[in-house]
Amino acid sequence: MTQVQYFTFSPFSENSYVLYDDTKECIIVDPGCYTAAERKKLSDFITNKQLKPVRLLNTHCHLDHIFGNKYVADTYGLDLEIHEGEIPVLEAAPMAAQMYGVNDMQPSPAPSRFIQVGETIRFGNTELKVLFTPGHSPASISFYCAASKFVISGDVLFQNSIGRTDLPGGNYNTLMQSITKQILTLPDHTMVYSGHGPATMVNAEKKSNPFVLEYLNKR
Ligand SMILES: [Zn+2]
Ligand SMILES: [Zn+2]
Repeated sequence: MTQVQYFTFSPFSENSYVLYDDTKECIIVDPGCYTAAERKKLSDFITNKQLKPVRLLNTHCHLDHIFGNKYVADTYGLDLEIHEGEIPVLEAAPMAAQMYGVNDMQPSPAPSRFIQVGETIRFGNTELKVLFTPGHSPASISFYCAASKFVISGDVLFQNSIGRTDLPGGNYNTLMQSITKQILTLPDHTMVYSGHGPATMVNAEKKSNPFVLEYLNKR
């Protein structure tokens, strides 16, 4: 059984994820820890659970999802793994930080490996399938764990909402395709862990997400 722990960090209220299993190996997805206190909170959890971080992944490279990349990479000796299509987003992050008035951001390290769509991310006894879910960001990916029935969806799908599509590389139709073809086609009882807000479930979003219903009705 793979466990999902999340922390809500930074003025952007971003959800940072630690996934771990019985082997005590863990991976960190989208570390958004921004303050020293937030970085400590993340590390304390890892220390207290006696976890061994083995990978650092980003669903996409918007500012709020990469604040903690440097800290996690340095602290645990990990290399960053992202989809190649997120490079422009990662490179634009310092400019985005200026735009949002974020002055003391630790710049993210460059990725050392590109994640392929359809590949299986492995750690401990856990396997995560990489789904391609662009639209909010040009090459956003989601991590699906079939055995433990959850998906880490980044900013693609939220409880009763969807990711914004007005940022560079965003596209509404692409996003809705990602949501309806990649996420909502997963088994009904799959938990959806989003980049912001509470977790939800595939069947709940199919039934009541107003953006999904509107999109499906129009077609
Ligand atoms: Zn985002
Ligand atoms: Zn976000």
